[in-house]
Amino acid sequence: MKQVAIAVDGPAGAGKSSISKVVAKELGLVYIDTGAMYRAAALYAIKHSIPITEPALIPHLDEIEIELKNQGEVQQVLLNGEDVTGKIREPEVSMGASTIATIPAVRLKLVDLQRDMAKKCSVIMDGRDIGTYVLPDADVKIYLTASIEERAKRRFLEMQEKGMECDMETLREDIRKRDEQDSGRAFAPLRRAEDAIFLDSTDMTFDEVVATMIGYIQKIR
Ligand code: C5P
Repeated sequence: MKQVAIAVDGPAGAGKSSISKVVAKELGLVYIDTGAMYRAAALYAIKHSIPITEPALIPHLDEIEIELKNQGEVQQVLLNGEDVTGKIREPEVSMGASTIATIPAVRLKLVDLQRDMAKKCSVIMDGRDIGTYVLPDADVKIYLTASIEERAKRRFLEMQEKGMECDMETLREDIRKRDEQDSGRAFAPLRRAEDAIFLDSTDMTFDEVVATMIGYIQKIR
């Protein structure tokens, strides 16, 4: 079967990664969570007390080694060999990732890694700039979104399920700020590619979104 690349972009909390993981499993694609890479880079800066600014980070870029390892259903994130899969989900890291993602030198380093991964096998890659910048020739591009209320509600339920403390208003504000920073940055901002399919999942169930995405992908396979 021919090698394919599927790009999934959209704002924070739209369900890109949980949906893409299931689609990957169903269709035998490798799932690549590019957000996890920005999160790991931000965690490195936080851990080493490096301010998240271009001049402060540039001298440290070569010290940051990020690897995504697929272990069954889980994508393990390794930062300089250390498993940081859980740590990168903390709220402080989310906002740090959005800030580090505004720095072109960081993006260029991570985009190189992402393109290398997409060369090796059929992938479904999720992020903010996959269809517009990382893989502009992707076979299928999907822009997955939902209303901010719905995204905050889904994130709230997800965190409650994991037993993590959270507050709906704080989550909503965190999502709003990240969306604003992600779409407002100068280099490779969050934007729907002109040739991306727009999928608003506000009134759809998880299974409906999965089935709809599989339908789009099967058309080209
Ligand atoms: O997808 P996730 O919410 O884990 O991404 C964390 C942050 O990483 C986003 O808010 C965004 O700023 C950044 N990001 C990005 N480009 C990508 C993936 C993520 O700028 N392709």
